[in-house]
Amino acid sequence: MEIVKTSKEIQDIVLKHKANGEQLGFVPTMGALHEGHLSLIKQSRQSCDLTFCSIFVNPTQFNDNEDFEKYPRTVEADLELLELAGCNYAFVPSVEEIYPEQKPHQLKIDHLTNVMEGKFRPGHFDGVVQVVSRLFELLPVHKAFFGQKDFQQLAIIQEMVKQLNMDIDIVSCPIVREESGLAMSSRNERLTTQERAEASIIYQTLKEIKANYKEHSVQEWQEKVRQTISQTEYCRLEYIEMVDSKSLQAISNWNDGQEIAICIAVFCGNVRLIDNIVFTLQL
Ligand code: AMP
Repeated sequence: MEIVKTSKEIQDIVLKHKANGEQLGFVPTMGALHEGHLSLIKQSRQSCDLTFCSIFVNPTQFNDNEDFEKYPRTVEADLELLELAGCNYAFVPSVEEIYPEQKPHQLKIDHLTNVMEGKFRPGHFDGVVQVVSRLFELLPVHKAFFGQKDFQQLAIIQEMVKQLNMDIDIVSCPIVREESGLAMSSRNERLTTQERAEASIIYQTLKEIKANYKEHSVQEWQEKVRQTISQTEYCRLEYIEMVDSKSLQAISNWNDGQEIAICIAVFCGNVRLIDNIVFTLQL
């Protein structure tokens, strides 16, 4: 695996391979890699000739400075994992390489960004769009792989690619979970043993609603979840939203045949965790 640090170099490498007619896959990450990230690398390797992975903790998508500072940084271990996973190029740029003095793209995506994560983390998705559009300019690959774990991010990136006319196929990959059901996340490393055990309530809650949604209205479920989580020792619900999986707009009734996502954000201690489940309603 080759490690690349500059924008110019990575762009040249991508263009050279593209000219050779090779199929190129790309997995953007913020590092602190775990099985979830590696599943994206695996998926890329299955359908592409060469796989690129970036490790860049993007300052512009953190609305909370402490979260940015405490974000785990384990580059050496990450590079070893990438090598073992069969990644071909690791792009590990500095902030200056990514943002020399670029103006962010102006997109009309308010309808996707003013709900859920966007409501509670103002500016977060502007930062995500800024960094992913820049990475896509530097790595104009054929396919980019994203986890369904960040459901809203995936919808926004799909819309971004459409609005910017970028010829990149966005591939959605399933959520990889720990044995307890907790969605893998770099932030899980910051949980204490007790918090980590209690955090499994997040996925249990999502599964319970999926199995029994007809028994209560949307609002009743939201209230029930709020109450259940308020009774835990370490967890605090930030939001639970039932949304249309395409428009991300909140639903207030269960409508037969509609594909929905239930998205949840929970603080466990002072670590913020998100998760979701997607399915089609059948009444
Ligand atoms: P991050 O490093 O958190 O920015 O994540 C990089 C990519 O890995 C994003 O596309 C995430 O959605 C994806 N990802 C993170 N955690 C998981 C997981 N548990 N399962 C699948 N994909 C994940």
